[in-house]
Amino acid sequence: MAGKIPREFIEDIVARSDIVDVIDSRVRLKKAGRNYQACCPFHNEKTPSFSVSPEKQFYYCFGCGAKGNVITFLMEHDRLEFVEAVEELASLQGLRVPRESSSSYSEPAQNKQQLTAAYGIMQQAANFFSSQLKTHKNRDAVVAYLKGRGLSGEIVKYWGIGYAPDAWDGLMKHFDNSSTNQLLSLKLINENENKRRYDFFRHRIMFPILDRRGRVIAFGGRSIDDNGPKYLNSPETNLFKKSNELYGLYQARKENRQLDRLLVVEGYMDVVALSQFGISYAVAALGTATTNEHIQIMFKATSEVICCYDGDKAGRTAAWRALENALSSLRDGVVMRFLFLPDGEDPDTMVRKEGKENFEKRLDEALPLSQFFFNTMLERHSIASIESKAALKAEAQPLIANIKGENQRQMMMAELSKLCGEADAFKIESDKKKARNVTAQKENKFGKEKVKLSPLRHMIRLLMEDPSIASKFDKIQPRNLQSLEIPGLAFLVEFHDYCYQHPQTTTALLLEVYRDHPYGGHIFKLLEHPSDMIKDIEQEYVDCFKALLKQYLNQRLSELEVIESSTGLTDAQQQELQLLMSKKGAM
Ligand SMILES: [Zn+2]
Repeated sequence: MAGKIPREFIEDIVARSDIVDVIDSRVRLKKAGRNYQACCPFHNEKTPSFSVSPEKQFYYCFGCGAKGNVITFLMEHDRLEFVEAVEELASLQGLRVPRESSSSYSEPAQNKQQLTAAYGIMQQAANFFSSQLKTHKNRDAVVAYLKGRGLSGEIVKYWGIGYAPDAWDGLMKHFDNSSTNQLLSLKLINENENKRRYDFFRHRIMFPILDRRGRVIAFGGRSIDDNGPKYLNSPETNLFKKSNELYGLYQARKENRQLDRLLVVEGYMDVVALSQFGISYAVAALGTATTNEHIQIMFKATSEVICCYDGDKAGRTAAWRALENALSSLRDGVVMRFLFLPDGEDPDTMVRKEGKENFEKRLDEALPLSQFFFNTMLERHSIASIESKAALKAEAQPLIANIKGENQRQMMMAELSKLCGEADAFKIESDKKKARNVTAQKENKFGKEKVKLSPLRHMIRLLMEDPSIASKFDKIQPRNLQSLEIPGLAFLVEFHDYCYQHPQTTTALLLEVYRDHPYGGHIFKLLEHPSDMIKDIEQEYVDCFKALLKQYLNQRLSELEVIESSTGLTDAQQQELQLLMSKKGAM
């Protein structure tokens, strides 16, 4: 049974990986001096402030402060767990992740094995469904149906679309008996009260649903002859939580390195049809309204989300729910808009009728969230009387208060106040706030450079920058200062000694070695003090050490003075005093 991943392996895999390659395969990097640059994948920006250092094997964003090593990047960017990130790096290096034999971690490891097997079964099922388009006796009728829906062979292949046969055991027969329990837990087959088992999807067009890493985690099945529900999705399983998944997101990210926007549509057919017409950024929620999780996932991938709905009442209600779910994720810099299609149309029919260009023109003209918000509010409340204005305010204010972005929130509040006829009163309040904000922002932007680190913290920061300095000076040994009562000194000693013993280590490796250390968070935080604050690394290290030494001398001298005036000094103490005095004089 597999256990914990050995620490040495994790350090080794970080040392072997090149952060530039790993990041560049996800975010295109440009060389800029000794480093590489890109627009930050973790916040929305037009000019690059995301920097990757090949020497330090470390990334840092001057805009949002995102930072870390190659493992941190995979965890944040690909949303992987720590172990998954290590596995991903290992597989890039063609290595198998070793496990310690300790049984304490056996349970998650076993889960992991089961998960791997489960992904394998889902993929086999997808292969089976798609092979049925070629081999099943109904294939002609099914292919004719797909053609009738306007789908090309190429697009069917791209989306891995398949066919679930009209039999009770079409898929079941494809697997041997040892897989039955897994098929049940993956909800690919069902069991009735009489313990009879049967295929969950029958006589349906099958759309594999991929997770963000491109693994099949569920299926959507569309009925061919309108028997049963038109759309049937896999129930939730270990692999599939529908509020966390969007159909088409994996493909949209794959097709567009820089995703300028995402379009949320209702069904898989819409996503597929749009992609056939060259609109490769559509996604669909799976049998649920657009949830807050969906919105968060989308705003991690792009800065503009357009939700597309029917123009009818049901469509407007669904759009309003999406709006409510989105407010707490609306940070400044992201845009959410709403597109309402003419009655009876969906994106599938619309794009076939109008083509890509005209359809995209509709997208460009989609209603901004603020406009949809106030239109809806004004449909619900009149502003003819104080009473109705009060009702409007009572409904709108708490919703606006949920908006995450300070500026968006304030502007929406200002708009509400204007509608309620209290613009002037609000303006004063908001001007005050704005003034406060500007100062806060200024402090943020320049504050970090002004803050001077204490000598001790600066030494740690310098070691992070270039761990080899620890071994460059024989006399600079923080352990000589150990009696100094400064919080963190014991850690500096430990950290210096580690760097001394590992002169080849890098910033990235240090982060890995200290990831779970009680001080790990502190040293990570120190990296927010950018490298360009450091002018002469060796001199600064010496200077900080001297400052600490001076502190030590003063502290010890005053201790000895206290002893001298109370009990008198021993010979040894007398000698020490003289030595310290001469050292202090020499400084
Ligand atoms: Zn950033």
